[in-house]
Amino acid sequence: MSELSHKDWIGKASAIRFRDKAFIDGKMVAARSGRTFASVNPATGEVLAEVASCGEEDIDLAVAAARRSFNTGVWSRTSSAHRKEVLLRLAQLLRENLHELALLESLDMGKLVRDAAAVDVPGSAAIFQWYGEAIDKIYGEVAPTGEGDLVLVRREPLGVVGAVVPWNFPLDMATWKCAPALAAGNSVVLKPAEQSPLSALLLAELAMEAGLPAGVLNVVPGLGETAGQALGRHMDVDCLAFTGSTAVGKMFLQYSGQSNMKQVWLETGGKSPNLIFADCGDLDAAADMAAFGIFFNQGEVCSANSRLLVQRGIKDALVEKLVQRAAVTQPGDPLDPASKMGAMVDSRQAANVMRFVEAGKKTARLVAGGDLVTVNGRGSFVQPTIFDDVAPADPIARDEIFGPVLSVIAFDDEADAIRIANDSPYGLAASLWTDSLSRAHRIAGRLHAGTVSVNTVDALSPMTPFGGFKQSGFGRDLSLHALDKYTALKTTWIKY
Ligand code: NDP
Repeated sequence: MSELSHKDWIGKASAIRFRDKAFIDGKMVAARSGRTFASVNPATGEVLAEVASCGEEDIDLAVAAARRSFNTGVWSRTSSAHRKEVLLRLAQLLRENLHELALLESLDMGKLVRDAAAVDVPGSAAIFQWYGEAIDKIYGEVAPTGEGDLVLVRREPLGVVGAVVPWNFPLDMATWKCAPALAAGNSVVLKPAEQSPLSALLLAELAMEAGLPAGVLNVVPGLGETAGQALGRHMDVDCLAFTGSTAVGKMFLQYSGQSNMKQVWLETGGKSPNLIFADCGDLDAAADMAAFGIFFNQGEVCSANSRLLVQRGIKDALVEKLVQRAAVTQPGDPLDPASKMGAMVDSRQAANVMRFVEAGKKTARLVAGGDLVTVNGRGSFVQPTIFDDVAPADPIARDEIFGPVLSVIAFDDEADAIRIANDSPYGLAASLWTDSLSRAHRIAGRLHAGTVSVNTVDALSPMTPFGGFKQSGFGRDLSLHALDKYTALKTTWIKY
């Protein structure tokens, strides 16, 4: 945890030199069209930088650079030991640039700088380190054929990987795609979200400093419908890894079908249920984590525990505890280490969230928050908001709100809880709280979710696969399984 004071962070923020160019073939370049878009600090409304807005021509250049670097083998055919060394150096450089990276995350998208310094940046460093350490420990296979044949099955990098990532964890989401793709030997073209391009541009610079050859990691800031679409439709991109909304995820499937049938991997939305049973022995811990599960990062988390399913007998007691926790989680200046919640990423997202909140006020019982507020007279901040007595079919219980808005739903028994939890188009994550080991296993087995956390929320690590069922997407980030997305199996059959 960083020990810097509010004043320290403000001082460091004022000294930052924002990178505002695309990073293509090892060089910072303006968009060919000369176009830019404004990167805005959502907590203050100030323009941080006018960033290169890449279009089709720039995507072509980036993909060509990636392809050249891949074909020459400067990265793709180096030893796994070499790739490991570079990725470990990059992990170290991320740690050395902790404060600047944490500030870029906070200034660009409104999250608490304290969280960015404690969670986002160390998390990214840990993931580059993890894939660096893993890559020289993965062996191929020898097929069990008879004498006279030697059959090798190896993993090979795919070639050019496109990555399109969102704004809620800009550095982490870029890392979740880039670290395994690079570790496996691919070249990457990364498109960060227009709301949060700044940390990805520094990442590219640090990657080169760590020894990644020019062209292996290219960053193309730009708008989704232009730069994102051009990458999705590109005929020379082999694989497209995406995190973002389900609606845009579906577009990438179409882009692929209409172009070169590139592999597409999607981590999309969620409406994760958190089930609390009456036999949960520590309701205070459950309340602490339920609040964390929806208010952390302003609720802008794909796996946020946005549906709280509570067994009827303990519901009122638990809701009372949650209301107390909401009261002490009010938004504040993201650069102040004492603040508990940051700004929404932009006024558009704040307005989306508030549309759900206003609708919820008519259909459910508002017990905490419910207002859009400013901090120091600026920005768009949403109060931690809790609705009780929400019907499972209510839009606030079904749609991904992507804000600090919790819907509380009562259930009667296990069957009821499982039915409500699974009645969702999404299946990213789920949590459950019980002191019964049997119940925990029984229910974990029945929940349609990529990750089920028991007596905690949203558990994840570089070691564990992350991704969803149903319309939460397919393919897994993190863990060795992520390498499946960025490699193809090659069979070499030798007769002797
Ligand atoms: P999007 O899905 O629109 O954006 C995610 C990424 O896709 C961004 O890089 C975006 O670029 C890009 N993109 C957008 N439109 C296209 C397109 N037509 N073709 C190719 N790429 C595109 O998410 P939003 O930022 O608009 O957020 C909207 C909602 O999505 C949120 O309210 C939330 O519900 C959900 N969401 C889910 C996330 C998750 O982690 N699962 C993360 C973020 C949002 P650009 O930003 O430049 O338009």
